[in-house]
Amino acid sequence: MLQGIAASDGIGLGRVMLLEEHSLVYSDLPPADPKAELLRFQGAMETFCRNTAKQAELLRRSAGHKEAQILSSHIQMVSDPYFQGEIEKRIAEGQRAEAALDQICQLFIAMFLASGDDMTQQRAADIRDIRTALLCVLLGLKEIEVTKAPKGTVLVAKEISPSVAAGINPKNIVGIVTEIGGRTSHSAILARALQVPAVLGLPGSTTLLKPGSFVIVDGTEGQVIPEPDGEVVQAYRQRRARFLRRRRQLNKLRGMPTQTASGETYGLYCNISKPEDAEKVLEEDGEGVGLFRTEFLFMDRERLPGEEEQFAAYKRAAAVLGDRPLTIRTLDLGGDKALPYLNMPKEENPFLGLRGIRYCLQHPEILYTQLRAVLRASAWGNVRLMFPLISTPEELWAGRALLEKAKVELTAQGMAFDPHIPVGIMVETPSAALLADVLARDADFFSIGTNDLTGYMLACDRNNPQISGMFSSLQPCVLRTIRHIVQQAHAHHIPVGMCGEAAADALMAPLLLAFGLTDFSVAPASVLTVRNFISHWSLAEARLAAEAVMAMDTEEEISRYLRQRPETQPL
Ligand code: PEP
Ligand code: MG
Repeated sequence: MLQGIAASDGIGLGRVMLLEEHSLVYSDLPPADPKAELLRFQGAMETFCRNTAKQAELLRRSAGHKEAQILSSHIQMVSDPYFQGEIEKRIAEGQRAEAALDQICQLFIAMFLASGDDMTQQRAADIRDIRTALLCVLLGLKEIEVTKAPKGTVLVAKEISPSVAAGINPKNIVGIVTEIGGRTSHSAILARALQVPAVLGLPGSTTLLKPGSFVIVDGTEGQVIPEPDGEVVQAYRQRRARFLRRRRQLNKLRGMPTQTASGETYGLYCNISKPEDAEKVLEEDGEGVGLFRTEFLFMDRERLPGEEEQFAAYKRAAAVLGDRPLTIRTLDLGGDKALPYLNMPKEENPFLGLRGIRYCLQHPEILYTQLRAVLRASAWGNVRLMFPLISTPEELWAGRALLEKAKVELTAQGMAFDPHIPVGIMVETPSAALLADVLARDADFFSIGTNDLTGYMLACDRNNPQISGMFSSLQPCVLRTIRHIVQQAHAHHIPVGMCGEAAADALMAPLLLAFGLTDFSVAPASVLTVRNFISHWSLAEARLAAEAVMAMDTEEEISRYLRQRPETQPL
């Protein structure tokens, strides 16, 4: 068994087709006539743009509009006056078109790779693809074609470029294995859009997997099994059938509203921790972001990110999401999240210590920089601000006061922002839960953080294996607390969502619906699953179930009852 990166879900069983790359060797001899060489280059550019436009159209039909844009952007990139001008300048100076193109592409690739930013580095892969395609045209080579691959083909290659992917017929290609690429590479995005199982980043796969041999590609686990025996094949065929049944069911919910069987609609948002995750939200059909855990922007580095860097990150996510809400939670440090470069003092009880908003209010300069960045990003999308670990009204007031100060300063500096940016809080401490009526007066929305709330209500550390059986959001004390928070939000006419793990728990769904939760925020990969289980309940049935549950005394009884309900059965 070979382990790579799980890049596109599903299981494929088929025979290996190896995509050999052209060697793309060209002569170094200078051309006899630079003018004719220039015309040859311009002709090649035209052919390239024509071919690419055709491939983009193919990709639009097979994968979708967004995916086709990957290829359309190649036309824009080669049409860039600097890119084209530099190549033509070298040709005019006597270089061969191939050499001039190659040098400029290598220059761009090196520049993009040096950027250190994921998105810009991805453009290096685009330039590599452009280089290959243009050199093929100049050298009169046919680009690698996969359109005629027979049924049951597993494509194995160093890398699958978008132009090659354009020719993939998902009816015939049952799996993709590459040596290069990760979950966010174009190959992965395209494989997911085409719903072809893919394992990427598997070094040596082009030599280890023999052409024509039978393999299993498990894109969910990131595994490739070369030449499996009959029993293994049988087991994987069954897993494949189960996976496809489930996918068919869930796919029916793409683009649909998140609704109960009786027609009530809910917001279904995502939890993210990096700006680039915003793309995943759209891919998985999330309706926005209910929790952006910004602390991850502050980790794995040596000093705090400045205002500009944070602004760029928040703006990027806001721009991707457009009108969909982007809920940015301010820095939530402490507990189990420390930043070595801040030299935070060691605490006896870190989960009861200088955590979340408490840390930020003791270091207002850190929060202030972040608030300015969030405000500036609010001019670029539908941004909401959220404070973590609020326990007292004073903390919310102090956070709001700092926000107002930032607004005044930005106005004086002529910077754009949304003056009405909604300000909400995480309700994740017992204090905030009991004071929900007070806090609701000054918060524009609540988001229930069941991960912390459950731990604090039960005085139970979820990371301690000795008491892990006790840690459950279905404990009666947690359920009563959630119900109380939701009731108070309703009494004060503010929306109330949930962004803790319990939001994605099928057993919790009827209770949350019955209590009156207004929106759910879950991992992108859980969006369709959650939409599916919400659709199984009518509000009347959910209320009956909740009534029964709220009369029970123990978690054991509650979970047994909910597990037996037909609506909570996994697909
Ligand atoms: C929570 O506590 O439920 C929550 C969503 O916040 P985090 O998991 O980031 O502490
Ligand atoms: Mg929390």
